[in-house]
Amino acid sequence: MEGVVYVLLFSLSTMVACAVAVVAWRRRRSAPAVGTVAVVSASTAVWSGTAVFGRLVPVPELVALTGAAAMIAVSVMTSAYLCQSLAVADRGWRLSRRTALWLSAEPALFAVVLLTDSWHRLVISSAGLDGAGDIVVRFGPLFWAHTAYGAALVVAATTRLTRAWLHGPRSQRRLYGFVLLGNVPSALGGVASLLGVTGTVGAAPQVVAPLGFCASAALTYWALARLSLHELVPVTRTHLFDMISDVVVTADGSGRVLDVNPAADRLARRLAPGLPDRLVGLPITAVLGGMPVADRLEDGLEVSLAVTDAEDRTVDLDMRVSALNDSRGEPVGWAVVARDVTALNDQRRELQETNDRLHEQVATIEALRANLAEQAVRDTLTGLHNRRFLMESLQRQMRLAAAEGSPLSVALLDIDHFKQINDRYGHGAGDQVLARFAKLVSGRIRADDVVARYGGEEFVIVLPGATGEQALERVDALRAWVAAGRMPAAGRTLTVTFSSGVATLTGKQSPEELLHAADEALYEAKRAGRNQVKLAAAEPDPSAAAA
Ligand code: GH3
Ligand code: MG
Ligand code: MG
Repeated sequence: MEGVVYVLLFSLSTMVACAVAVVAWRRRRSAPAVGTVAVVSASTAVWSGTAVFGRLVPVPELVALTGAAAMIAVSVMTSAYLCQSLAVADRGWRLSRRTALWLSAEPALFAVVLLTDSWHRLVISSAGLDGAGDIVVRFGPLFWAHTAYGAALVVAATTRLTRAWLHGPRSQRRLYGFVLLGNVPSALGGVASLLGVTGTVGAAPQVVAPLGFCASAALTYWALARLSLHELVPVTRTHLFDMISDVVVTADGSGRVLDVNPAADRLARRLAPGLPDRLVGLPITAVLGGMPVADRLEDGLEVSLAVTDAEDRTVDLDMRVSALNDSRGEPVGWAVVARDVTALNDQRRELQETNDRLHEQVATIEALRANLAEQAVRDTLTGLHNRRFLMESLQRQMRLAAAEGSPLSVALLDIDHFKQINDRYGHGAGDQVLARFAKLVSGRIRADDVVARYGGEEFVIVLPGATGEQALERVDALRAWVAAGRMPAAGRTLTVTFSSGVATLTGKQSPEELLHAADEALYEAKRAGRNQVKLAAAEPDPSAAAA
C-alpha cells in the first residue's frame, strides 16, 4: 500500500513538474527567471521520474543508472535554483558564460565520477535488495561531497532571495516573499528524501518530497508568471532607458548619481572628457558639470540652457528635474531629463532670420509702393499735390460739403508776369520762384485747406468751410503778405505778386465748373491790374431761372 502511494505521489510530482517545465519553457523569453523555473521543474521531473522508475522496476542492475540520473538531475536542479534566485532578486540578471561554466563544472565532474563509480565506489559503496525486496543503497564520500555542494547552492540561493526580500525594492518584496515561500515545500521534501535514502527514517516521510516538489513548482511559477511577471519584465524598461535619445540621470537624495543612460553618459563625457569610467556614485554636479541646474535640484524645475562642450561647441539643452518618490510617496531622489535642442534651435534661428529678412523686404516694398503712390499725386518741382490729386480731393470735399450743408470755396492763384521772370533771369530762376512761392503758400494755409499746383505758375487752394467772403479775405491777406515779401532767386531778391479768383460752391456744380468760375474771377483780377483777388459773381440758380 505504502509503495502504491509512493508511486502515485511521485508520478503526480513528475507530471506537474513536466507541465510547469513545458509552460515555463514556452514563456522563457518573457523574463530570465521564468526560464530558470523551466529548468528547475524539468530537473525535478527527472528526479521524481527516476524515483517512480526505481520503484516500478526494482532491478539491481538498473539501480546504479537511475540513481546516477537522479543525482545529476538534483545537481542541475540546485544550479538552476541558484540561477532562479539570482534572476528573481535582480531583474537585470542574465546567465553569463562564466557563471554557466562554473555551475556546469560540478555536475560534469560528478557525472564522470558516477560513470566510473564501479571502479572506485566513492559515490555508491554498495547497493542491493534487502529481505523485503526494497533497494538498499550505501553512499560513499563523494556522494556526500556532492550533496553538500548542492546544499551550499541552495543555501546561497535562499540567502540571496532572503536578502532581496529584506532589503530589496519595496515593490518587489511580495514577489521575493512568494518565491521564497514557494521553495519551502521542496526544501522540506529534499530533506525528507535525503533522510529516506540514507535510511535515517522510514520510507514514509519520503512521500513529502513529491508533494513538496509539486507545490514548489506550481507556487514558484504562479508567483512569477501570474503574480509578478510585469515586475520581472521591466527589463524592457531598462532597454527603453538605454535607447531613448534624451539624457536621463537619476540621483539619490544626497545628489549622488544612481544611474545614467547612454545618452547621459555621452553628454557628460562630451562636456567633461576626464570623467571616470563609472559615473554611478559620483556627485551629480560632476556628471552635469556645466549645467547650473545640478546645484539647485527642485521638483518641476524646467530650464533651457546653453552649455559649452570640451571642443568649445555650444549645446542647447531643455532640462527638467523631477523628484522621485517611493511607493509610499517618500522622496528618494531626483531624475534629471534633458533634451539636446541645438539642431532644433539652429533651425529655429535660421527660420527667424529668414522671416526677419522677409519682413524687411516687405517693408521696403511697401515703402517703395507708398513712395510711388505719393509721387503719382505730387508735383516734383514744388512738392505740392498735383492737379490729379486736386481734382480727386476737390470732388471729395465738395461731396462732403454738400452733404453737411457747409460752405466751400476755391481760389485760383496765378503769378503776375511770370514770363518776365523767366525771360529776365532764366528758366532756373523761374523754377526757384515757383518752389519758393509754393512753400510760402503752403505755410500760410489752414490744416484743412488743400493747396495744389494747377499747372505752370497757377495754383489752387481749396478752403473747406469758408464762404466766398471769408475765402476772399484770407486769400487777400495771403496776397498782401506775398507781395510785401522778398523772394530770393538767381542771386537776387525779387518781388513777386499774384492775382487770384475765388469761387464758392453754390448749387450742384462740378469741380470743373467751380474752377472755371474761379478762373473767370482771376481773369477779372488780371484785367483790373493784377496783384488783387476777385470773388466770382454768385451764379444764378439754374432751377430759379427756369421758374
Ligand atoms: P500774367 O501776369 O498775365 O499771368 O502773365 P504771365 O507771364 O505770368 O503769364 P503767361 O501765361 O504769359 O506766362 C506763363 C509762363 O510761365 C509761360 C511759361 O513759360 C512759364 N512756365 C510755365 N511752367 C513753368 C515752369 O515750370 N518753370 C518755369 N520756369 N516757367 C514756367
Ligand atoms: Mg498763367
Ligand atoms: Mg501769370
